[in-house]
Amino acid sequence: MQNRIWLSSPHMGGREMAYVQEAYDMNWVAPLGQNVDEFEKSIAAYTHSAYASALSAGTAALHLALILLGVGRGDEVIAQDFTFSATINPICYLGAKPVFVDSEIDTWNICPVALKEAIEDRISNGNKPKAIIPVHLYGMPAKMKEIHDIADFYSIPIIEDAAEALGSSLKSKMMGTWGKLGVLSFNGNKIITTSGGGALISDDLNLIEKSRFLATQARDNALHYQHSEIGYNYRMSNIVAGIGRGQMEVLNDRVARRREINAWYKSLLKDVAGIRFQMEPNANFYSNYWLTAIIVDPKITGGITKDDIYLALEKENIESRPLWKPMHSQPVFFDFPFYKTGVSSYLFEHGLCLPSGSNMTDEDLARIAKTLKAVLNF
Ligand SMILES: *Cc1c(COP(=O)(O)O)cnc(C)c1O
Repeated sequence: MQNRIWLSSPHMGGREMAYVQEAYDMNWVAPLGQNVDEFEKSIAAYTHSAYASALSAGTAALHLALILLGVGRGDEVIAQDFTFSATINPICYLGAKPVFVDSEIDTWNICPVALKEAIEDRISNGNKPKAIIPVHLYGMPAKMKEIHDIADFYSIPIIEDAAEALGSSLKSKMMGTWGKLGVLSFNGNKIITTSGGGALISDDLNLIEKSRFLATQARDNALHYQHSEIGYNYRMSNIVAGIGRGQMEVLNDRVARRREINAWYKSLLKDVAGIRFQMEPNANFYSNYWLTAIIVDPKITGGITKDDIYLALEKENIESRPLWKPMHSQPVFFDFPFYKTGVSSYLFEHGLCLPSGSNMTDEDLARIAKTLKAVLNF
């Protein structure tokens, strides 16, 4: 059997071990420390946000963001329907209620028209949403200008789930900096990784300082251990942050390579009828193309479905992945309100993410091309 080609696997830059070694040499094998401070500075500098708080996971960052905005039991939070469940789970940790809003077809992200409708409907039911969570799926920026205008009009804060979109931008403004708070993830298969980790970014120092306080067990400023609030153990470790420092140094290269792979797929499949790509709608949108995603229309491909492609790749030991199953159709979230356009279900039914790792070799790409040619007859 040939080596497995992964959907998106870790890709070290070279200096990660040196930063980890530094922490060892200083015996700073602990949460917090110099690597964490430096990692936070580099995240803030890269995204042009004022502040960053390094945390144990993107999910932890979402949880703290909701707490910082005062979301609690019985509150409603509007969230993108077409996403990974990690966007939604923290809403439920707090006893709050997710309200799902479907996508538009240009970016595959939350639809501004359906969003407005949802907000007005919730307000007319006497329950004004406490926050809006758009997601930039597979790196593609959501229509943040429109979403921002609507959120501003109703004075509802935005938490941006930019877990998949580090390095993406809209009108040259980095994703994660469009909302009051932005969430990043450094999980193992993201565009850069710390093995596991996340961050909150914001221009509001109070929010970032509060997130650090809550993430370290909410210890009051006193000689003894005193607590006036419920705390969490969500801070990033100094070891993990060393990996992060090394990864930040190669982030631009990683974005460039993912975009190159995306362009390679587009060129490879350009004459295949029935295959469409997730595309930047215009020059204002800049995706890191964390994953290259396609829609396969069997009515045009001569009956070939996304599942046929998935199985053909799997047979050659190549990993691909169906698009996220929409939240409104997840058994655990059946009971929550949903404002539908039909787009998320359509994408789920026909979509597939192709292997997109920045460390794929020319040989890997040749294997993928050969398999796609065989299954799609081109
Ligand atoms: C990965 C991911 C998360 C969660 O991040 P973790 O660091 O794995 O907790 C949240 N939202 C989206 C859209 C993601 O892809």
